[in-house]
Amino acid sequence: MELNIGVDLGGTNLVIGLVEGESNILAKKQTATNAGRPAESIVEDIDRLSREAAAEAGVDFADIRSIGFGSTGIANSTTGRMEFAANLFWSDVPIRDLISGLTGKPVFIDNDANAAAYGEHLAGAGKDADISMTLTIGTGIGTGLVIRNEIYRGFNFAGMEAGHMVIIQDGRPCKCGRKGCYERYASASGLIYTTGEFMDEDPASSLWTACEGEKIRLNGRLIFDAADAGDATALRAVDTFIGHLACGVTSLLNMFQPEILAVGGGISAQGERILAPVREIVSRELYSRFGKNHAKIVKAELGNDAGIIGTANLWKEGIK
Ligand SMILES: [Zn+2]
Repeated sequence: MELNIGVDLGGTNLVIGLVEGESNILAKKQTATNAGRPAESIVEDIDRLSREAAAEAGVDFADIRSIGFGSTGIANSTTGRMEFAANLFWSDVPIRDLISGLTGKPVFIDNDANAAAYGEHLAGAGKDADISMTLTIGTGIGTGLVIRNEIYRGFNFAGMEAGHMVIIQDGRPCKCGRKGCYERYASASGLIYTTGEFMDEDPASSLWTACEGEKIRLNGRLIFDAADAGDATALRAVDTFIGHLACGVTSLLNMFQPEILAVGGGISAQGERILAPVREIVSRELYSRFGKNHAKIVKAELGNDAGIIGTANLWKEGIK
């Protein structure tokens, strides 16, 4: 069986997985990213953790075929350079050559949302679909589209950033510089922001007790729990969030019509609680609703492992 390493570098954590075949994770290692340190220092951790993962799994490091790397930002898969990654403070980092230089392995790189979508396409919710799209809903919204085992990147490797599709013109400011981006409403932080706005209008909401009077303590689970317990403001916030999520999903389906649209990230733990009403709104609004075939909106299957499974398979991307 093929052995490959998948690397998922986020703003908070660096996770390495040793993957056998397409998706069998033999060992996983993690450390803090400590964003802001030089890329060389992070690459030393990637090398060390890769070797530790091999040792833990009883695998000879020499038997590992490749290393795949994913992080947020603009990952040029052809040049192997991270052209820009805001949360890592990286600009034009030759990450492929740095990792390859230290490990001696062929290295393949991509954007982390693309990698997660690729993982789901190969071994998760999209494995039986020709065309699948994955939304990873966390602090922001990562999106990836895979068409018959090929990741859609745009000509400049900056494509499929649907989190920065504006859904409300002149809406909430986004770190990208625009206003009203999808991820400012339909991410976990969007839900928290909406909830905070509604709480200001309702001093009696149980959410004030749940967050001990400090909105900074709010999180998705607290909000969904309060909604399920019948708190009117929490219910209104959840309904508003679902409306925003469905608005973007409908537009994405109108544009791309993937066979499968998988929803992943922390909020997907709510499962049918959010997916059923999203499907209901989409079924009313989708341009192609009178057609015969419809995209399936499902929960992503690989959870937090989508990134390492996707990157571990990057070596074969495009191979038919
Ligand atoms: Zn934006």
